[in-house]
Amino acid sequence: MTKITRELSASMTRRGLFKAVAGTAGAVALVGLTSNEVLAAKMTKQAANYQATPKGGQTCAKCQNFTAPSNCSQVDGPVSPNGWCTLFNAKA
Ligand code: SF4
Repeated sequence: MTKITRELSASMTRRGLFKAVAGTAGAVALVGLTSNEVLAAKMTKQAANYQATPKGGQTCAKCQNFTAPSNCSQVDGPVSPNGWCTLFNAKA
């Protein structure tokens, strides 16, 4: 094996190892969680663009995801009945 092929072979091995480690890291992040826990994970207020004030007459109190006094099935943490976010889903 020439020096070039040895270096190329070593480089490919390191690259392959890096890809394997990167792929495993994502899987390891979910280890320990049941599928229900993964499905039940709530979005952060920031990710949902939550605001503590109504938007165009829409409020948490009028949303199907809201449970009084301050729980949301989709967004993490307490929410205000007068709040709003982009996941708003009007009650029927
Ligand atoms: S508007 Fe957003 S934060 Fe408020 S109850 Fe609905 S989903 Fe939750």
